[in-house]
Amino acid sequence: MDRKDCIFCRIADRDIPSPLLYDDEYVCAFRDLNPKAPTHILIIPKKHVASLAELEEEDFELVARIARVAKQLAEEEGIAEKGYRLLSNCRADAGQEVPHLHFHLLGGRRLSDIC
Ligand code: AMP
Repeated sequence: MDRKDCIFCRIADRDIPSPLLYDDEYVCAFRDLNPKAPTHILIIPKKHVASLAELEEEDFELVARIARVAKQLAEEEGIAEKGYRLLSNCRADAGQEVPHLHFHLLGGRRLSDIC
């Protein structure tokens, strides 16, 4: 996919302005437009990978990087102690809307209604 046709590539490329809570060579993070919890952050690889199902061997390191960023952001957001959820919807049955791999970092309330 052309990076111009992917909304999350465009955010990563700073083509669409969205304040970044985290930014390095491989990963960035920004707030979800439609928050489902007091803290709802999306963490993405800058490389275009459509979903978990499209990860290639050389991409798995990106998932570890994302887990590290999630831990850091949870601490910065003050949700680490009470707990949080990190999840990625993969393809249609999971309700994936944006076809660029992303992890939702959710916290700040009880999340029992989200499986
Ligand atoms: P998913 O259903 O896992 O694909 O989630 C996609 C998420 O991206 C939804 O929670 C949307 O609210 C969010 N979203 C879509 N476009 C944007 C955007 N431009 N900036 C921030 N969040 C977005």
